[in-house]
Amino acid sequence: MASSEEQTLETAPDVGELTPPNRTLMGPGPSDVNPRVLRAMSTPLVGHLDPSFIEIMNDVQDLLRYTFRTDNQWTIPVSGTGSASMEAAIGNVVEPGDTMLVPTNGYFGGRMASMAERAGGTVVTVDAPWGEPLDPDDVANALAEHDPDVFGFIHAETSTGVVQPDVPELTAAAHDHDALVIADTVTSLGGVELRVDEWGIDVAYSGPQKCLSCPPGASPLTLSDDAMEKVLGRDTDPRSWYLDLSLLEGYWGSDRSYHHTAPITNVYAIREALRLVAEEGIEARWERHRELAGALKAGMEGMGLEMNAPEAYWLPSLNAVRVPDGVDDGDICADLLERYDLEIASGLGDLTGEIFRIGCMGHSARPENVLLVVTALGDSLEVHGADVDPDAGVAACRRALRSL
Ligand SMILES: *Cc1c(COP(=O)(O)O)cnc(C)c1O
Repeated sequence: MASSEEQTLETAPDVGELTPPNRTLMGPGPSDVNPRVLRAMSTPLVGHLDPSFIEIMNDVQDLLRYTFRTDNQWTIPVSGTGSASMEAAIGNVVEPGDTMLVPTNGYFGGRMASMAERAGGTVVTVDAPWGEPLDPDDVANALAEHDPDVFGFIHAETSTGVVQPDVPELTAAAHDHDALVIADTVTSLGGVELRVDEWGIDVAYSGPQKCLSCPPGASPLTLSDDAMEKVLGRDTDPRSWYLDLSLLEGYWGSDRSYHHTAPITNVYAIREALRLVAEEGIEARWERHRELAGALKAGMEGMGLEMNAPEAYWLPSLNAVRVPDGVDDGDICADLLERYDLEIASGLGDLTGEIFRIGCMGHSARPENVLLVVTALGDSLEVHGADVDPDAGVAACRRALRSL
């Protein structure tokens, strides 16, 4: 590769053909992509207003409703990553002067707070330690104390491996105070039980590259009629033109008129990824994640490691495993990447250095991957001097897999 000294405007950069390594992705996302999705992405482009594309858009919306378990008319893929659908949700629902109640028990509650502030909202918090879910009583107390306009929570906290139980209880409490509920379902949609309508969630956003196993680029979002009524009745425009849902309605709603050019290839991708969800069946898919992550967990515990979350709020799609004494988490992750082409992640925020984060999402949630991660992690930990029993881990994992 040319050094920056040699680089001039006259010489074109001499870069080789793209040859990314063939990793197994068992981190917090992206997850492995099904070959069918990659094939869909290599099909020809059509225009974003082509009649054939309008049909594709309708398919994606129908499939998203199925996957979210909702009848919401306002169900679209937002152009951009999960953070774009997150900002579309918060930036449209939170108006200047509104108060939003957000959690402090993980990394993504903090991002909710930043976005709500940028939307002109006042942020108040309901607290729980990193690694624990919100307590419904604490949520009820915070709602009574602050009377917020919006309550946001993280259904599947990717930074801690915790699933939020008692969702219907939280939404009922919020509705008692006339607050709209925004749920972050980035690491749960298509992997962990989620019932938007039945659970009374007003707005849910997600991302494609976690349990849907689709490359990042078009991110699911759904809003109830009540939430959309607030969005369409705003006194001031949302600060983002690109993510203004009242404008996006012109494209994804009845008109199908130009707002911005949809990321065609990413829409193809999510259509195929969601078709895979529908073929498998949403409930069977939740069950597969529970079973395969259960085998992963059995392997971890079998070799002597400890899960960070107790069974009651263990998140199958993201397994937080305590780093054993005597090893550096960064060294282990680097070793797995180098020797096994295997990606897992270390902890962040309050759990930096304390946990490994091992995803078990979508197309990555397969027996061969689970066995690989148990085998490779056990090996790497032993090589680095941790007190673990890799063979017992593999045996426990195999037993669990065989019983499925
Ligand atoms: C990954 C993630 C996001 C952000 O999604 P990006 O695609 O990285 O923008 C938001 N919330 C949660 C819980 C996530 O795991």
